[in-house]
Amino acid sequence: MVEIKTPEQIAKMREAGLVVAAIHEATREAAVPGATTKDLDDVARKVLAEHGAKSNFLGYGGFPATICTSKNEVVVHGIPSEDVVLENGDIISIDCGAIIDGWHGDAAYTAFVGSGHAPELIELSRVTEESMWAGLAAMKQGNRLVDISKAVESYIRRQPRPATGKYGIVEDYGGHGIGSQMHMDPHVLNYVERRRGRGPKLVPGMCLAIEPMVSLGTPRTNVLEDDWTVVTTDGTWSSHWEHSIALTEQGPLVLTARDGGKAKLAEYGITTAPDPLA
Ligand code: MG
Ligand code: MG
Repeated sequence: MVEIKTPEQIAKMREAGLVVAAIHEATREAAVPGATTKDLDDVARKVLAEHGAKSNFLGYGGFPATICTSKNEVVVHGIPSEDVVLENGDIISIDCGAIIDGWHGDAAYTAFVGSGHAPELIELSRVTEESMWAGLAAMKQGNRLVDISKAVESYIRRQPRPATGKYGIVEDYGGHGIGSQMHMDPHVLNYVERRRGRGPKLVPGMCLAIEPMVSLGTPRTNVLEDDWTVVTTDGTWSSHWEHSIALTEQGPLVLTARDGGKAKLAEYGITTAPDPLA
């Protein structure tokens, strides 16, 4: 069963989404050479407190921090630590969420630490981010869940291959329904798997987190001894981008984007729903 939200509930999720956007802005500024991933976690905790929001990451399945900090070959679920120091040339994916009055937001982005990154890393992040937008653009009435998966995968496969061979679309993790909990049905694959069928119809009131994870090599991952940190099995670096999106009677609204996704979805000829908080 997919949870269907009322417009009032979506407005609450928009509030949570804007807190997530604020965490992104603050952590992006703090992700500089010499900072530790623990510093980034402190920044995030402060932003949550300033907005009177709660963390949906802290304590989730025992997770010990407010954000996930996943550097270089770490795909997702990296644990902030004062022992992990950001260095010039690193890439780091920061994933975080917020709860307002019981309603959740969840989003992630990849940042470049310092400068002088190899073109293939810049392209990796671009391809991952754009594949997320392709997936977000497929969140419309008349479509089914599989159309989102198909949009993400086909965007990635249409891009020129990296010098390392082929982009690895991570299969062990994916997007999800979101609302009164962070992780809800349905699971949102970042590729098409025929035996899963076409999935439910996309209807107003549905909210999803769409989050491709792409590596410069393998789609396969391992979990480290800490039971959280997910790395690529071949050590290639990876990128992770995520937004939470609502489908409303007036169209989609990207809950965790400042502008509701207006500018990016316009590139797809899509008009976003009015911001309920504007
Ligand atoms: Mg997330
Ligand atoms: Mg998520």
